[in-house]
Amino acid sequence: MVKKGKKVRYELDTGEVESLSSEEIKTVLRGADELIMRGGGALLSKILAGSKDKKLLELGLDDSPVYGAFKGTTQKDILAKIDWMIINHYLAIEYDYRTPLLVFTKKGWEIEKETFANELLEQFIEAAKNSYFEFVDELKDRNRELIFLLLDKIAESKNKELILILKAWKEIEYKKVKTKIQEVIEKLENDQNTKKITRKDVEIISFVARKKWMSIPAEFRKKIERNVWCSSCSDVVQIKDYSVKESGEEIVLHGSCKICGHTVVRVVD
Ligand SMILES: [Zn+2]
Repeated sequence: MVKKGKKVRYELDTGEVESLSSEEIKTVLRGADELIMRGGGALLSKILAGSKDKKLLELGLDDSPVYGAFKGTTQKDILAKIDWMIINHYLAIEYDYRTPLLVFTKKGWEIEKETFANELLEQFIEAAKNSYFEFVDELKDRNRELIFLLLDKIAESKNKELILILKAWKEIEYKKVKTKIQEVIEKLENDQNTKKITRKDVEIISFVARKKWMSIPAEFRKKIERNVWCSSCSDVVQIKDYSVKESGEEIVLHGSCKICGHTVVRVVD
């Protein structure tokens, strides 16, 4: 029983655990990221164990990239690893009134920031490849240090194919981040050693048009995709690999015929 006004004591016990590999340290920190000031060691151990716990599923914590990373390890051993992380100052406990919650120490955050920024960079590159520019919405309101580190990594990548999605991102950001994004765009544009982006690429993809397109319910979008005229097939066909462009008030899909590969265009009004 917890007496009124008394803090829940958090007892640290590293059990048999003598040390953690750097991979394990990164894993525990990545799991903790989802519950900083939201949960304690018990919940973290359930994420790492891949538990089907009701509270965990309600909070969507099974979406964590390290969900189930320590599957097969006993709950007791996972808790010992977490306690080892606290004793070695990667994580700390802070009290929200009486409840002990996990927080990053400076040392822990430095490692986690790096892991998370690399993960976001991969997702960013993937989103750019698929013209999935809505991804930038997920970057807004995130920790600023993390976002600046991500932007440094984008600049280092020298990947000019990231310029368009950066421009889309810039549209929705606050001043400081906007300025930094612009710097990265200029760096990528001015780098002579990187692959040149064609003018065609710039013209075709319009973030605004894509947003408009995505605002149409999926079932209608599917109908439109399957109702495109192909002059080569002389038939109504399905459009594939298309991009979305704005033309006045209308949006236009530019792609190819699913049957013969011929270029097809569909105006959506
Ligand atoms: Zn065709």
